[in-house]
Amino acid sequence: MEKKQFQAESKRLLEMMINSIYTQREIFLRELISNSSDAIDKIYYKALTDDSLVFDKDSYFIKVIADKTNRTLTIRDTGIGMTKEDLENNLGIIAKSGSLAFKKDNEAKDGHNIIGQFGVGFYSAFMVADVVTVTSKALGSDTAYKWESTGTDGYTIEAAEKDSVGTEIVLQIKANTEDDNYDEFLDEYRLKAIIKKYSDFIRYPIKMDVAGKRLKEGTEDEFEDYQDEQQLNSMVPIWRKNKSELTPEDYEKFYHEKHYGFDKPLKHIHVSADGAVVYQAILFVPESMPFDYYSKEYEKGLELYANGVLIMNKCADLLPDYFSFVKGMVDSESLSLNISREMLQHDRQLKLIAKNIQSKIKSQLQSMLKDEREKYETFYKSFGRQLKFGVYSDYGTHKDVLQDLLMFHSSNEKKLVTLDEYIARMPEDQKYIYYASGESMERIDKLPQTEIVTDKGYEILYFTDDIDEFAIKMIMTYKEKEFKSVSSGDLGIEADDKSETEADKSENKELFDYMTSLLSGKVSNVKASKRLKKHPVCLSTDGDMTIEMEKILNAMPN
Ligand code: ADP
Ligand code: MG
Repeated sequence: MEKKQFQAESKRLLEMMINSIYTQREIFLRELISNSSDAIDKIYYKALTDDSLVFDKDSYFIKVIADKTNRTLTIRDTGIGMTKEDLENNLGIIAKSGSLAFKKDNEAKDGHNIIGQFGVGFYSAFMVADVVTVTSKALGSDTAYKWESTGTDGYTIEAAEKDSVGTEIVLQIKANTEDDNYDEFLDEYRLKAIIKKYSDFIRYPIKMDVAGKRLKEGTEDEFEDYQDEQQLNSMVPIWRKNKSELTPEDYEKFYHEKHYGFDKPLKHIHVSADGAVVYQAILFVPESMPFDYYSKEYEKGLELYANGVLIMNKCADLLPDYFSFVKGMVDSESLSLNISREMLQHDRQLKLIAKNIQSKIKSQLQSMLKDEREKYETFYKSFGRQLKFGVYSDYGTHKDVLQDLLMFHSSNEKKLVTLDEYIARMPEDQKYIYYASGESMERIDKLPQTEIVTDKGYEILYFTDDIDEFAIKMIMTYKEKEFKSVSSGDLGIEADDKSETEADKSENKELFDYMTSLLSGKVSNVKASKRLKKHPVCLSTDGDMTIEMEKILNAMPN
């Protein structure tokens, strides 16, 4: 049998690929800078084992040069460079990654930060450039080579002049068309913003010459042109720093820089996980509710970084809905990314991280509740409703995580109490956790049914939020105590109630029959009650559903 090679129209394949895997063309810069960073990393790792090589940090950097006149954008690095063979193999063969090979060869070495793996990122340059010219001199080589391609007709390689080791990539930025404007990729401010967004935590300096006008020294109205070389990235991300080096102000600054919110964060959580899954995270519990929080527009999620490079702005899978108020970021080395690095390949790692994060958030909220009560109550006023929704959703599967975090106002000093606190001060003869539903605490206080319970010295939880009762129905019991609405038929208080009402019933039969017929269709029964003190009459329910719940269900759109 004859075995044939697949033929591919490489020109079309390249076009298809670069135009379909990336959703935003600005990421070409992220890809090229990541490659430069990898190239410098490779020298760094070589220097670890090669004594003749010294890694002097100051001489390794990435430089970005925009030239509006010639419409070129240059990315230059002092990395390991490429030989002629490297250029042919790594840039001439789509999906061949020299970086992946390097990673495999150096597997034993710890903590490598090499980003590349798929061997396609480089070609994203053709989304914005007509011609890409790569001039490179490899470490230990005397000759430099120039690789050039228009992306569609293959490439050329020839010997070239280059003094220092490293790589220079020149993009001939596309001309504007009616539909597409490419000028932004020559604009200093825009480039700065793109670099800041995706590459802020590249470990080597990314520099750019920034030109402008400034006041001439010693004068008040004379200006002069200047050109400064600026470093654009912050390099060491705050989440890789040691917690002990950081102040609350540092976290707050980060919160605002990242535009997580305008408020002051109530709490920050800095995680450095080194176990089954390795990641760092900085999470925030905001103080106030975003204006769109309880609307459909609100998007939950954390920023996701792979190895310090931004992959996703809002990774929703990292947060359960009931913690959707949490802001922040996660950085991990152990994510399997898909080819565009905009999505994740397998979510096993992500699931582990999400689970881990969930328990961190929970334990931080619990300790806030325990040690910083006032703060917790502020938090609860903003986001307590979301926790209650969480208890209610998914058939109550989250109640174990959340029930300890719940609070309700109570008849005891009208303060917020936890279920734990309620149980702790229950008199011995009290069987149930009592609650009363209504629009407000004042209205609930006027309910005839509350009297007998409070008279017994029992505490009542006020359910003023429409979700409260639904959430509690999911919990059912807390520490083996059942919840009981004060308006339910059997309150578990009047032990001898039944017999006496029987007597009352026969005595007042005519009156009750008359009232029942008068209210027919509205009430199922009228009877005498022992539970009233100051009030002449009250409504009570037999089934599971209280009057308040019925009201809410009736008000819901079908
Ligand atoms: P990846 O980075 O996923 O490997 P790319 O298409 O971005 O894929 O790059 C392909 C390969 O080209 C890299 O693996 C690396 O070997 C080589 N390369 C690209 N840019 C540079 C550079 N600036 N310096 C040295 N080698 C580079
Ligand atoms: Mg790459």
